[in-house]
Amino acid sequence: MNNPEYLEKDFYAVLGVSKDASAADIKKAYRKLAQQHHPDANKGDKASEERFKEVGRAYAVLSDPKKRAEYDEARRLLASGAFGGGGFGGFPGGGGGFGGGNRVRVEDLGGLGDLFGNLFGGRQSQTAARRGRDVESEVTLGFEEAVRGATIPLQLRGPAPCHTCHGSGAKPGTLPRPCPTCNGRGTVTRDQGLFGLSSPCPACQGRGSLIDDPCPTCQGRGSEVRTRELRVRIPVGVNDGATIRLKGQGEPGQAGAPAGDLIVKVRVTPHPLFGRSNQDLTITVPVTFAEAALGTELKVPTLDGPVTLKVPAGTQNGRTFRVRGRGVPGAGRKGAGDLLVSLQVAVPEKLSRKERDLLREFASLSETTPRNHLGID
Ligand SMILES: [Zn+2]
Ligand SMILES: [Zn+2]
Repeated sequence: MNNPEYLEKDFYAVLGVSKDASAADIKKAYRKLAQQHHPDANKGDKASEERFKEVGRAYAVLSDPKKRAEYDEARRLLASGAFGGGGFGGFPGGGGGFGGGNRVRVEDLGGLGDLFGNLFGGRQSQTAARRGRDVESEVTLGFEEAVRGATIPLQLRGPAPCHTCHGSGAKPGTLPRPCPTCNGRGTVTRDQGLFGLSSPCPACQGRGSLIDDPCPTCQGRGSEVRTRELRVRIPVGVNDGATIRLKGQGEPGQAGAPAGDLIVKVRVTPHPLFGRSNQDLTITVPVTFAEAALGTELKVPTLDGPVTLKVPAGTQNGRTFRVRGRGVPGAGRKGAGDLLVSLQVAVPEKLSRKERDLLREFASLSETTPRNHLGID
């Protein structure tokens, strides 16, 4: 599209249609003229051949809504005098300007691209479709909920998609219609030689659609401040301090842009018996000296009811036993964790007379001391 004709020629005049001609009118006019000046029908007629090519070039631009919008915009700027005789050295990137004539030359189109960049860059900051903001929230889970996963109700107050129009901004029963200027894209692009410049569509402010009947609740904004009730799915085995990102559940985007995300921070209340070590659960179980020395079968609680643990004779204080598969259930790539049972030998704080006598007897029978390795008698 980087030829001077792009801006100099009035393509509407070439096709003999008005500036606001419909696509169908343009097509009709083109067909008629193309037939009329077709080289097959005008053998050797140079003028007709030129005209045929000209009609084709005009149609190539005007039949493409995107190109047509660019062309209209560029022509409008040209007519407004932005490129007038005084040159435009004052515009950044304008360089030496177009000083002198009002002809736009091929080599100047780079500068023209910069000019578009400056003109539309300024507008972009106000009307560009902007993604909605992320919203942060926090939930507190019970220990077992965190281990097993849960669905938690969450109340949020803030901008949300309008409940009347579900965010479309259009009155119920009506629909926004695609913006004809940008063909629903929300941006218009100008190919200027090396530059392909996108800017928000001026007709729809970047929405890509036009609303004829605005929603009475939100006046067409598509969002309203209200309290939303969400149900947040907490995955199995979530850890205290984890964050869960719910895509698109944050504030609605402006001008049809995507909504932000909801970031939920998870707090987990501690359990009176169990601890967590990633996928494993932990528990400390006290045993008597006699149980540890003689061996026993212990009933140990798990989140799914008690299991029996065989404790061999001579088990030392602090030894940890692993009960397979009784930790955090498996989810995704993670397999199920285990329950780690640590034994703690409990020393009686009070003894009956008989117990004391028997223990004394036991002590007198012991031939070894556990402190041999210290080397002090
Ligand atoms: Zn609404
Ligand atoms: Zn538009």
